[in-house]
Amino acid sequence: MVHRRKFIQASALGSLGMFFSKMTAGQSADTPVKGKPIVISTWDAGLEANKAAWEILGKGGRALDAVEKGVMVTENSQNCCVGLGANPDRDGFVTLDACIMDEFSNCGSVAFLERIKHPISVARRVMEKTPHVMLVGSGAQQFAVAEGFPLEEQKLSPDAQRAYEDWLKKSEYKGPAINVENKGHGPFAPTKLDSGEWNHDTIGMVAMDTQGNFSGSCTTSGAGFKMRGRLGDSPIIGAGLFVDNEVGACTATGQGEDVIRVAGSHSVVELMRQGLSPEMACKKIIERIVRIKKEKAKDIQVAFLAINKKGIPGAFALHPGFSYALKTGEREVLVKAKSYY
Ligand code: ASP
Repeated sequence: MVHRRKFIQASALGSLGMFFSKMTAGQSADTPVKGKPIVISTWDAGLEANKAAWEILGKGGRALDAVEKGVMVTENSQNCCVGLGANPDRDGFVTLDACIMDEFSNCGSVAFLERIKHPISVARRVMEKTPHVMLVGSGAQQFAVAEGFPLEEQKLSPDAQRAYEDWLKKSEYKGPAINVENKGHGPFAPTKLDSGEWNHDTIGMVAMDTQGNFSGSCTTSGAGFKMRGRLGDSPIIGAGLFVDNEVGACTATGQGEDVIRVAGSHSVVELMRQGLSPEMACKKIIERIVRIKKEKAKDIQVAFLAINKKGIPGAFALHPGFSYALKTGEREVLVKAKSYY
């Protein structure tokens, strides 16, 4: 529940720079911080996902294992926007997208995958067991089944069924609504839970392990009631996720089409390579989206979440309402990101 969580404003801590300055004291700008693992992930659901990731990171495990295990928690939940419990496409089918990337720039991705509970693990298998980076649709499903992943029943969760029936009344595709808290309408809208909390979108997670190595994962059902076959940014390496072990890592959430257009996560990492802080790099790419979209930027939400080689996290969103979960050896908090509007 939000009110019981430790919620901090990024600005209150100088975008966490002060908080992390102790940790980085004596380190030069390029020196990786070893022995101080950290995991960050998008939206409130990241709190639970981070706990699972920490079971690995906290014991000195590899970031790659942590980011896979972490987002599996969200894939398992009956979240509106991640995993098989999520909202379907306009034809009534849940189609899932995911990707994963490690410290060696190995990467794997699946998209338009149906009836498989853990797309992130299939993405990892694509990375580790095939000469390819991406598998989609029936080919991805065939590969998953051959790898031993069970084919689940084709059935909507009760919440998704309700949401779909509601949507069918008008069958309108107006384009995504802003996924800020308490504005629940449209394909990207969060679902309001009985508890009064809002359930948000994609989970993107990036982590640094005790070796100072990075990995990232990203998994989603994409936009609810999307056109059949639509892919967003989340399974696309460089858009929904990018890791460069010399620099850091970034993941994205929000309207995928506009993240793809600016090669979002890759662009953020490239700006960090030039010396920008994670928050400033995320901000610059949000501003680039505003320059492209002009007035239309008011109608969409996009957020980036990044971490640099010093283990400093940062985020920036188009609109207020985006928060990310952070876990280190000392802290477990939800951080409200700054936004353009
Ligand atoms: N980025 C996801 C997509 O476009 C959705 C989201 O994060 O809200 O599929």
